[in-house]
Amino acid sequence: MPFRTLVGHRRILTLLSRAIARQTLPPALLLSGPSGVGKRRAAIAVAETVNCLKPSTTLGPGPSKGGDFEIDACGACDSCRRIARGIHPDVIVVEPGDTGTIKIEQIREVIGAAAYRPFEGRRRVVIVDNAEAMVPAAQSAMLKTLEEPPPATIFVLVSSLPDVLLPTVRSRCPRLRFAQLSITDVARVLVRDHGYAEADARAAAADSDGSVWRALAAAALDLTEARERATALLVHTARVADPARRLEAAKDLTAGRSARAGQPPRRGSGQAGERDQLTVCLRSLAALVRDLGVLAAHADARLLANPDLHRDLEPLAKAYGSERAMRAFMTVDRALGALDRHASPKVVADWLVLNL
Ligand SMILES: [Zn+2]
Repeated sequence: MPFRTLVGHRRILTLLSRAIARQTLPPALLLSGPSGVGKRRAAIAVAETVNCLKPSTTLGPGPSKGGDFEIDACGACDSCRRIARGIHPDVIVVEPGDTGTIKIEQIREVIGAAAYRPFEGRRRVVIVDNAEAMVPAAQSAMLKTLEEPPPATIFVLVSSLPDVLLPTVRSRCPRLRFAQLSITDVARVLVRDHGYAEADARAAAADSDGSVWRALAAAALDLTEARERATALLVHTARVADPARRLEAAKDLTAGRSARAGQPPRRGSGQAGERDQLTVCLRSLAALVRDLGVLAAHADARLLANPDLHRDLEPLAKAYGSERAMRAFMTVDRALGALDRHASPKVVADWLVLNL
């Protein structure tokens, strides 16, 4: 990901490019700012640019290919591609493990590696993402290296909570402060890198606080909630045959998140909001009833779309049986088709709960 492909942060990226072009890049840097605005991407862009085999540059004679940037990675050479895929031996990314912390062993390992010349590249780049997660001992170990940085190695610390770092570590690393992205920029990233449609991207960006990560996390939250609602509905319909009580449950399918969490609706309100809400929920439901079919037929559990729910789905699969699960799948499929043809979300939800 060359500098020119990053969204926003023009001033900082220009500064980084210029420092690389003029060979004045400090051996340690701290990229701080909100989560999900592109700090880690900028660190990768630095790694690519210093190691690119065919960098574009506006310096010297010849046509200027670097655009805004004095030097930029090509994004296509062997080195750039391997850095982007995370398999370049000289570009090391350290990040928190399962415990949520970066342990001293992880830092010792990269410090050990940094003592040698780069294997292939011109500069070794060590990126410490979520640097604030370094345990104090790890930070102290890092500090010694930052005080006497090994030649040909650049340390890039990336953090949304830089104040948690030891003051001694912070003072060793010149800091570049990333700001929030504009709504337009967040939407651009969602469309380009995450397959959003324009309108969805704009809606998600508007509520993202200028952070791509936040926009994506909110979408993931929607999905998690949709799956919870779909599971609850299956539990309900497995037990309850009474139509009136089933219709009660249908209301939950179209109620916006706002109704539950006391937040303003994000996906637009009214029928369009209900339609979106129900569509997401029905997609979850389709995957769940398919899983019930898999379990009821005693098929390989590796086929499950929701393997984390295996235990919860097992008794439901018994209650449904494989024929009913199959019918339920067709029912959900027909409901999705009806929504596509602009049937009223309420009518679809009611029909669905009566036919599951
Ligand atoms: Zn390249």
